[in-house]
Amino acid sequence: MNLEFKRELPNARVVKEMYPLSDKGAEQKAANDKAIQSVILGQSDKFILVIGPCSADREDSVLEYIGRLRTVQDKVADKIVIIPRIYTNKPRTTGMGYKGMLHQPDPEAAPDMLKGIIAIRRLHLKALEDTGFSCADEMLYPENHSFLSDVLSYVAVGARSVENQTHRLTASGLDIPAGMKNPTGGMLSVMMNAITAAQQSHTFVYAGWEVKSKGNPLAHAILRGYSHKSGRNAPNYHYEDLKFVHELYTESGLKNPAVIVDTNHSNSDKKFDEQPRIAKEILHSMRLSEDIRGMVKGLMIESYLVDGAQSPGGNCYGQSITDPCLGWEKTEQMIYDIAELL
Ligand code: PEP
Ligand code: MN
Repeated sequence: MNLEFKRELPNARVVKEMYPLSDKGAEQKAANDKAIQSVILGQSDKFILVIGPCSADREDSVLEYIGRLRTVQDKVADKIVIIPRIYTNKPRTTGMGYKGMLHQPDPEAAPDMLKGIIAIRRLHLKALEDTGFSCADEMLYPENHSFLSDVLSYVAVGARSVENQTHRLTASGLDIPAGMKNPTGGMLSVMMNAITAAQQSHTFVYAGWEVKSKGNPLAHAILRGYSHKSGRNAPNYHYEDLKFVHELYTESGLKNPAVIVDTNHSNSDKKFDEQPRIAKEILHSMRLSEDIRGMVKGLMIESYLVDGAQSPGGNCYGQSITDPCLGWEKTEQMIYDIAELL
């Protein structure tokens, strides 16, 4: 191996003791979990919005954004359950570029994993303590889930990880909804197989332990569009796509058939401004088909304070440094429009 073992890092138990969750925070997360899970289980007909920046690049702007979501959440609480995205670790198509707050708590400085672990825990904790939201993150590195397991209410397994056994087995040991994305090439069988694996019990190695999972009945699908062989992006949020996933669910016999539709990424061809239109089309499909209405439990939206994206090192506070996001005014309007159309 050519690894330089730079320093030993504290384990999750130690980090949690250093930065503990308050009793009030734990109660709040339990209440959030209940509200979210009852949507996935079909006990509530509220609509989930997993919404926020592509990457959580800095604490101040992310907390400001989530604070604004709190005001909106309280106004639409009869119809919508908001789960803010605090995405602290980013998969990169070629491995190059900003890998998220976990690696670079300062996006312009060199990677520092110890500072990163502390920064991501502090951010999720602060969001929960200050705004009452327990948030969503991508489970990019399954073992790192332990650093955040008491503060997250939702995880996604990304398009580049969904065929990986460690991700699937770890998802089977979670008590929160795990959204399995379709892979970048679009194969729906990979996504359905990931849900099947995550809903089963497994014995495996995790964080130096032999562990046994119970299986996660809240594991479900996220449709994010896909890339053609040519590289062109193609959507999978249209009526026919949703009907087809409904058929796959029916054939599979999986528990709690549920779909979250990602309105950005390949579904919008990263044209962030298309997200409100895409959301309206999905809501229209839900009105046309009982099957779709019963299965589509919510949307994933990429949104931040300022429209669009900049390079890391750009000076625009609240603008994404990864995928382009919908800015605040349009986001707020989009949420109210969704509530109106539900
Ligand atoms: C994301 O949600 O920002 C993301 C990286 O998604 P995907 O895995 O679908 O590319
Ligand atoms: Mn993104």
